[in-house]
Amino acid sequence: MAPKRITLHDKSFAINIPENKILEAIQQVATQINADYKDKKPLFLAILNGAFMFASDLMKETTIDCEISFLRVSSYQDMHSTGQVSEVIGLKEEIKDRHIIILEDIVDTGHTVYALLQNLTARQPTSIEIAALLLKPDCVQHPLQVKYIGMAIPNDFVVGYGLDYNGLGRNLRDIYKVV
Ligand code: 5GP
Ligand code: MG
Ligand code: MG
Repeated sequence: MAPKRITLHDKSFAINIPENKILEAIQQVATQINADYKDKKPLFLAILNGAFMFASDLMKETTIDCEISFLRVSSYQDMHSTGQVSEVIGLKEEIKDRHIIILEDIVDTGHTVYALLQNLTARQPTSIEIAALLLKPDCVQHPLQVKYIGMAIPNDFVVGYGLDYNGLGRNLRDIYKVV
């Protein structure tokens, strides 16, 4: 049994989404993707670090021919504007004329995934969709369509199952929210 309360650094967290519910949600996402991408040989692009567990469990539920690769998105404040500038790191695959599915742990403001979409779209994939384990619908600030969503959650800070609080918590099987 997972502990109901944990402490990471200076904060307390309470269990929010148990492992079995996470895996159920992933199974549902996989069922949709298996139907939508039959014979399309999609390339999954998982965003490190947060999406590593989601990517792993989702891949185990796929029944189609597919590939996976991993990338990072580094964001920094542009010194000359307030806008966020993002750089894509580690993408070695040619994505032109491929069906791309971005795997993200959580979509909050949507800045990360929106910037990534712009960057990848310029490389002319045949199609590009987003699969996010978690989505905070009240926080999204961009015109984004997240086609595959594990679960929609309120605007709470969560950790576990790949998500961290200052480096800690990624190894937890369950998702916890700050209390
Ligand atoms: P964005 O605001 O760009 O949609 O979210 C960017 C990144 O912030 C996410 O990929 C994730 O790594 C992190 N993030 C957003 N919300 C949370 C949260 O509730 N908990 C944790 N641990 N990370 C979050
Ligand atoms: Mg992330
Ligand atoms: Mg983080």
